[in-house]
Amino acid sequence: MATAFTMPVLRELFTNHELLHREAHQPTSVPDGVRSVGILGGGTAGWLMALALKTRVPWLEVTLIEAPDLPIIGVGEATVPSLVAFLHHYLELDVLDFTREVRPTWKQGIRFEWGQPGDYVFQAPFDWEVNGVGLLGAMAEEQNVSAFTLQGHLMAQGTTPILETNGELQSFLPILAFAYHLDNPSLVAFLEKTAAELEVRHLRAEVVEVETASVEGDDDPHVKRLVTRDGATIERDFYVDCSGFGSFLLEKALGARFESYASSLFTDRALAFQAPHHGRPMPYTTATTMDAGWCWTIPMRDSDHHGYVYASAHLSDDAALAELKKRWPEAEGERLVRFRSGRHDRAWIGNVFAVGNAYGFVEPLESTGLMMIQRAVTDLVRAFPIGPHSQAMRGFLNRSIGRDWDRLRWFLAAHFKFNAKLDTPFWRDCRAEVDVAGIEGALELYRALGPLSLLPRAMRNSVKDEVGVFFYGLHGLDTILLGQRVPHAPVAREPRERWIARRALAAEFASRGLPYAEALEAIEAHPEWLVQVVSHPSGWVAKMAEFI
Ligand code: FAD
Repeated sequence: MATAFTMPVLRELFTNHELLHREAHQPTSVPDGVRSVGILGGGTAGWLMALALKTRVPWLEVTLIEAPDLPIIGVGEATVPSLVAFLHHYLELDVLDFTREVRPTWKQGIRFEWGQPGDYVFQAPFDWEVNGVGLLGAMAEEQNVSAFTLQGHLMAQGTTPILETNGELQSFLPILAFAYHLDNPSLVAFLEKTAAELEVRHLRAEVVEVETASVEGDDDPHVKRLVTRDGATIERDFYVDCSGFGSFLLEKALGARFESYASSLFTDRALAFQAPHHGRPMPYTTATTMDAGWCWTIPMRDSDHHGYVYASAHLSDDAALAELKKRWPEAEGERLVRFRSGRHDRAWIGNVFAVGNAYGFVEPLESTGLMMIQRAVTDLVRAFPIGPHSQAMRGFLNRSIGRDWDRLRWFLAAHFKFNAKLDTPFWRDCRAEVDVAGIEGALELYRALGPLSLLPRAMRNSVKDEVGVFFYGLHGLDTILLGQRVPHAPVAREPRERWIARRALAAEFASRGLPYAEALEAIEAHPEWLVQVVSHPSGWVAKMAEFI
């Protein structure tokens, strides 16, 4: 009898059952495979790694080792939206517990006091990919990229997507992506407490020595055991190096080579401090151009947190302090952090995988520290079960992680190359010398053909290969170039009236949004809004969770 090709029958043919089967039946472990993991370091990287392993690979025995006298970096406060999906979907952290204990604030993007001299500013909102109002119209009508999305309008007006209409509040949080501003010590305390509930073992000890060994069939050295200051030994199948800038296992024990980004990113110091916001926090991170670098402003509930990121070759620590005091006279609690920009040649050597500052670091201009940790953590989890067969995966991850870090380097370099806000020796050097070699081709296309995100689809796809889609993509680079008014050839735009009508709608929406301080109170009074943001099936958090 002939088959009736009904929809259920066709669905059978159009479904890749082998792939589904493979995804659902990944072996949980392999003979001779990794069953125990030692994580060295109890900063954000270490605890996020521990939680991910216990949540996603629950049969592993996980131990976190942390030196009681080596402090965590303690900064790292502005983030990107995908972290919200990572925390509440991937790590399954309850959004209400998290909000109550960590007390985050919400960020809609970055306001750049950047690009052009004088009072000029531009916004880099998180809905840059939606492009609801229109890029070319914004540049033509307002000579400022800030007017190109709905969230750009909200940021410009200092309001939030919680609207008041006839005395009723309405939350649009599920449709406009936001990120958290996080107080790093509160975040780490929350992660540590949750990890204890998941039975992550926590050892407080400083590791002072590492015994390495070679393994048959593997060219990489392996870590055999760790020796602590009081002489105890710790032996696990696999180690995750989250020891921060010291890179204790990856670099010091296994000899990974550090590849510097200093020719693109000239800064190497940060002076973190706080200043009051007098009850007027802003719903975004701000990046302010300074004489020899820039300063972040991250609005927390009680005060603004800041950090002046500068190049020690151009400015002494005393001069940096004097400059920030002049601009923020109420600054207090200054703390100096030294760093180097770059990454190691490999993240995974033998049985050691490095996450966080132990692998790489770039200055926080685009708030990418925790995002890169998230990426590394999910990469490693996906590599399980890890066994003798994992060498191909090791090579693959080393290539792809390194490539994405390099793309981040080029993206950040574009911020320094074109910033004409100040005419100081530092900024003159940046404009003349910052190395943007990795996106030179994309910059050439932008100059000749206009915004990259508006190129024909086939071209866009190949340009994405150059600049990457992970994180900022073509829209992100366009926003930064247009925001700094990097010139490009004229491009035909849609009829003016259409753009103006959309702009009017966006401006009205933004004008009815609650200011940030009031929105924070409203959210506290309506915890169901937060649950809705995280669990709404067609909201941005659920969509982002699909890509983790
Ligand atoms: P750390 O926090 O330094 O932790 C290292 C841990 O290793 C500590 O627990 C220490 O005790 C332990 N350890 C080290 N050696 C040993 C040993 N031998 N034995 C035992 N334990 C050991 N990221 C963002 O996402 N947004 C931002 O806005 C942002 N701003 C930043 C600003 C600055 C100035 C800096 C420097 C970083 C910023 N970051 C930001 C990055 C972010 O802070 C870090 O990437 C993140 O906190 C991860 O740190 P970590 O866990 O790798 O290292």
